Amino acid sequence: MIDLRSDTVTRPSPAMLEAMCAAPVGDDVWGDDPTVNAFQKAVADITGKQAALLFPSGTQSNLIALMAHCGRGDEYIVGQQAHTYGYEGGGAAVLGSIQPQPVENAADGTLPLDKIRAAIKDDDVHFARTRLLALENTIAGKVIPHDYTQAATALAREHGLATHLDGARLFNASVATDTPLAALCEPFDSVSLCFSKGLGAPVGSVLVGSTELIERARRWRKVAGGGMRQSGIIAAACWYALEHHLSGLAEDHRRAKALAQGMEKLPGVRVTSQATNMVFADFAPHAAPLAGWLGEHSIFIDLLGSARLVTHRDISDADIDQVLAVMQAYFTQHG
Ligand SMILES: *Cc1c(COP(=O)(O)O)cnc(C)c1O
Repeated sequence: MIDLRSDTVTRPSPAMLEAMCAAPVGDDVWGDDPTVNAFQKAVADITGKQAALLFPSGTQSNLIALMAHCGRGDEYIVGQQAHTYGYEGGGAAVLGSIQPQPVENAADGTLPLDKIRAAIKDDDVHFARTRLLALENTIAGKVIPHDYTQAATALAREHGLATHLDGARLFNASVATDTPLAALCEPFDSVSLCFSKGLGAPVGSVLVGSTELIERARRWRKVAGGGMRQSGIIAAACWYALEHHLSGLAEDHRRAKALAQGMEKLPGVRVTSQATNMVFADFAPHAAPLAGWLGEHSIFIDLLGSARLVTHRDISDADIDQVLAVMQAYFTQHG
C-alpha cells in the first residue's frame, strides 16, 4: 500500500517503540513525568522560547493557544485557508467564545498586510476586540517568506495584537530553507508544532511561548480534557522523532519534487503546486476514475477539492516510480 493522503499515516518504527517502552514516566497532570518535563524543556530550547507544553493533537494545541491569548468577545485575524479557521471544527468560536476574522490568503499563503490592517478594529462597543494575528507555516506545503513574517508580526505588535503561528509543519519549513527553528519562531508569541506529521510520531504536538502564556495554556488544556497522565511514552516518541527523523524531511521534499516532475509529463495531469512535501494537481475530468484506478492498485490520494499527494517517511523512491507507472498505465488505457 502506498498512502499519499497525508504525512500523518506513518507507523512508529521498532526503534521508536523501544524508546517509548524505555521512557521513565510519572503523572504529568501533577507535573511528575520526567520524560515529559525534559522533552518540553528541549523543545522550548530549540524554539528559543521560555516554556513548552505537550498536547495530544495540533488541533487542541492551536485551540488552547487561541484561548490563552483571547477571551470571550475577542477576535483573531486568520487566513481563510488556515487550518485553525477551516479544519478545526470552528473550535475557537464553539469552545473559546472567540470570533474569527478571516482574511483571504494570497496565492503564496500569506495574508496581505493591507488586509490585516483593514481587519483590525477600533476600540468601539460595536466591534469585537481584535486581540491576535494567527499565521500558518508551511501552508499547503508552502514556506511563508521570513521577511513577510517579520513585517506582518511587526504590524500586529504596532496595533497591540499578540501573534500565534500554527507551525504544524514548521519542521518542513526549517529543513527546506535551512533556517534554525528558533529563527522561524522568534517573531511569534506562541507556536504550535506537530510531531505526528512528517516527523512520524504516533501522537503529539507542542505549544511553545512565554512561561506566563504556557501556564494559562496548562489550565485550559486541563479544561479541554488534554491533561494526560503517563504521557512520557508519547513524549519519548516525539523526542525520538525529533532526534532521528528531522533530516529525513529533506528526502520527503526531494521525492515530492520527483513526483511532481513525473506527473507533469503525463497527459491529463496539471500540477498546480509543489512545495516541501506536498503536490497539488488538477486531474479534471479524470479525477474520480483516476483516484479509483490508483485505489485498485493500493495507491491512495486525497481528493478534497483538488488532488493532494503528500510524501512522508513511509514513502520510498520505488513508491514514487510505482505511482508514476500506475498513473501512466491509466492514461495509456483512458487517454
Ligand atoms: C495537522 C495540522 C494541524 C493539527 O491537526 P491534528 O490532526 O489535530 O494534529 C494543525 N494545523 C495544520 C496546518 C495541520 O496540518
